[in-house]
Formats: sequence, structure tokens, C-alpha cells
Amino acid sequence: MAQEEFQVVIAGGGVAALEAVLAIRALEETPASIELLSPSRDFQLQALTVAEPFGGDPRRLDLEQFCAEHDVAYRPEAVAEVWGGPQRVLTERGEEVFYDALLMATGARRTSILPGSHPFRGASDVAWFGNLLERLNRGAVTDVAFAVPRQVKWTLPIWELAMLTASWLREGGRTDRRITVVTHEQAPLEVLGGSVSARIAELLSDRGVDLVAGTGAVRFEQGRLVCEGGKDVRADEVVALPGLSVPEIPGIPQGRHGFIGCDAEMRVDGLDHVWAAGDSTWFPIKQGGLAAQQAEIATAGILRAAGAEVEPPPFRPIVRGALITGGRPEFLRVAVGEDADSLLTTSPLWWPPIKVAGPRLGPYLAQRWSLEEEDEPGPALTQDLEPAEDEEQEHEAALSLALDFAEIDAREGDYEEALRWLDVAERLNVTLPSEYLQMRDDWRAAAGR
Ligand SMILES: Cc1cc2nc3c(=O)[nH]c(=O)nc-3n(C[C@H](O)[C@H](O)[C@H](O)COP(=O)(O)OP(=O)(O)OC[C@H]3O[C@@H](n4cnc5c(N)ncnc54)[C@H](O)[C@@H]3O)c2cc1C
Repeated sequence: MAQEEFQVVIAGGGVAALEAVLAIRALEETPASIELLSPSRDFQLQALTVAEPFGGDPRRLDLEQFCAEHDVAYRPEAVAEVWGGPQRVLTERGEEVFYDALLMATGARRTSILPGSHPFRGASDVAWFGNLLERLNRGAVTDVAFAVPRQVKWTLPIWELAMLTASWLREGGRTDRRITVVTHEQAPLEVLGGSVSARIAELLSDRGVDLVAGTGAVRFEQGRLVCEGGKDVRADEVVALPGLSVPEIPGIPQGRHGFIGCDAEMRVDGLDHVWAAGDSTWFPIKQGGLAAQQAEIATAGILRAAGAEVEPPPFRPIVRGALITGGRPEFLRVAVGEDADSLLTTSPLWWPPIKVAGPRLGPYLAQRWSLEEEDEPGPALTQDLEPAEDEEQEHEAALSLALDFAEIDAREGDYEEALRWLDVAERLNVTLPSEYLQMRDDWRAAAGR
């Protein structure tokens, strides 16, 4: 690595960090060398962990490989301290690393904040949730409540977990189990507006999920989810969204719950050469698509500091969310804080329809996980699609065609081809329809994978 090159250090190996690497490397002749520090050796797509207990595939990338592919030096350790004046980070093993520009993309820690409940924090809770499903199936547990503690503002995973569980129980003929969601919001995902809330309420009701809105859950004890205002709910188990906080990193100004303060260009308050993006920042909606949008802004500032002629785009947060429902996914696109109507359809509103719609990370992951045809590389940037009137029927037709072909190929014993069709169906639908998950396992075994 030439010493005179502009030295970018990226702390983190998650959504914001990878988006930043892709954005820097997208600029031809990037005037920068990059070093990435992350204690976790894998990148995990946490957004899809809600589907894993129901048979969805884990989605991971090897960070060392990703870094090698993008000419990034990789150091598998955490940043322990940041020294603004001398422009150095201190690693957890005591080494000093110089930076011309530092991007803090260290995410947030997810911890249980509802006493007595079990949190769903992503990959680390998939096995526990699988065990809960098994207990629900055999009747050892009959009533499950899903709770959103007051501190949690972004609630999408709880709706997915409740709907997936309810759909799964119905498919298994277990119609006597009771699923309830308790949220402090006045309506589901209220931050995205009335039409999104109304649609989620409809989907919950279709699946027989009870909704208790406008009520904060306080604790779970002795078979009772104690709620504010005495609206207690009976339950055998309570699954809650975790609270988010950022551990202390000396040298970085941190506010409430440790979140990092920064301006609209993602420059960290009071530090000249430091930017931040993603869940670790003060922005209240902790969502991967937004983390990636922030990373794009931070990166533009870093590239400008490195001498490139780029202007950081304004931060106009747009939520692109794919809600896994146990049936057709629902795609939603909402400009946060604007009055414009939100878009909500069962056909994709962006392409490729990866669950975390990072501008560059989405297309990259689609390629890596072979969701794009190999000979037909997809777009380098996520593209918004406008919903057309006949779009939903077309989407439906394309999906059932792919699934039909898969079944035909499997019947004829061509399991490799059948699996390829399932990849196409998954690309169209974010996740495979649940009835195909077991088939995929069987076909993989038959294909010797
Ligand atoms: C169950 C669940 C469902 C979700 N569903 C969705 C969804 O549908 N759509 C969506 O867009 N988002 C979703 N999200 C949110 C999304 O995963 C996060 O918003 C996103 O991962 C944030 O990206 P980030 O880069 O800020 O942090 P992360 O992706 O969490 O990455 C942080 C990285 O920093 C590393 N790190 C930590 N400390 C240090 C340190 N001191 N030094 C160096 N590295 C460090 C970590 O090891 C990790 O690699 C979901 C999250 C969960 C848990």
C-alpha cells in the first residue's frame, strides 16, 4: 500500500461498511487505500434471519474474501479508541492505525429490555425461535405474544415474526394457538403512515393474529405480559424486539444510549476527519437500507476530502422495506417525514428486490448469491420501479411460472435445474413461498449438494 495514498479506515463489517467500500471502489481511479476493521469475520444479512426458523437460508459473506475482491486491507479486530488529533484508531489488540478519513460503521448492540421476555436479535436467536416453534407445534406452548417495548421505534421484524408464525401454524393445522402482538404504536409501523398500518392490520387479521396497539409492554411474569393501563395479555412465551445501544468508544462523542451525533453529511460532531453511518448514528430508524444511504453520503464526503470531485447528496431518507408475511411479501417505499403517499404493493418496488435495499450492496448481494443470471449482470445500482396497475398480476404470473418449471424439472429428476428455478422464484419474491422450503431441502439432497 503506497504511503502517500489517502488512507480511509472503515470500522465495521456490516451493511454501512460494505456499502461504503462499494461506493469508494465505484469511482474509477479511487484516490484512496482502504483498511477495514471488524471483529466479526462474516457479514450477515440480519434482515433475513426472521425467515430462518421457518426454513429460510442463512445469508452470509466472508469478509476477508469481500475485502480481497475490492482491494481492501482487512484487519479482524475491533476499534477500541479513536484519537481525533493524531488521526489514529487504537485497535483492541493495542495497535495504532493512521487514517486520513475514518468511517464509523460499527452498528448497534441489541439487548433484551423487556424483563422476562426473550429478545429476537437476529442470527443469535434463530435456534431459540426454532425451539419455540417446535414447542408450539406439539402444544407445550399455546399462547405467544410478540412485544415492542417503548424504546424501540422501528418495528418491522415483529410484524414479520408474528405473521410468519401464524401462517406456519395454520399451514400445520394448529389453528387453536393464539398469537398476539402488543405495541406502543397507535397502529402497526405507524411511522410509515396510515396506508401501511392499515395493510398490516389487514394481513394480521387474515392470519388470525390479535393486535393490542397503543400499549407499552412492561414485563412478562407468571404467564402474564404486564402492559401499561392494565391491558395485560396472557401468554406462555413473549418474544420482544431488543433495545439498541452503542457501546462506549473513547474519543467518539456519544449521546443517549451511546448513539453517535453527526451532521447531515454524516460528519461526526466535533471531529474533523471522522464520519459515521448506520445503526450507530443518532437517526432513530435503524434500518439497513437507510444505513446504506447514510454510507453513500459519508463516502461522498470522504472522497471529496481525498480530492475527488464529488458532492455529498442530501440525506432524504427513503425506507424501502420488504415485509415477509408468510404469503406474498409486501414491498413498501416511503420517503420518511414527507406527506407523499407511501407505496405498498406485492410486486417489487426496487430491483433487484434484495431485502436490504442498499444502493450498491443490494445489486452486489444479488449477484453474489446468484439471484441474477450469470450471463446477464444486473444493474450496479438499485433501481426504483414504479408500480403499474397490472404489475401485481404479472409478478404473480412470473412467480408461478418459475415454481411450475421447478416442479416439472424435479419430477423429471433434474434437481439442479429445479433448484435454479427456485433461485429465480426467490429473486422475484425475496423469500421462497413456505411450501417450497422443504422441497428445496429435499431437492438439494437429491442433487447431492
Ligand atoms: C431481526 C432483524 C431484522 C431486520 N430487518 C431489516 C429489514 O427487513 N430491512 C432492513 O433494511 N434492515 C433490517 N434490519 C436492520 C439492519 O440489519 C440494520 O439496520 C443494519 O444491519 C445496520 O447496518 P450497520 O452497518 O449500521 O450495522 P451492522 O450491519 O450491525 O454492522 C456493524 C458491524 O460493525 C462491527 N463492529 C462492532 N463494533 C465494532 C468496533 N468497535 N470496531 C469495528 N467493528 C465493529 C460488527 O462486527 C459488524 O460487522 C433488521 C435487523 C434485525 C436484527
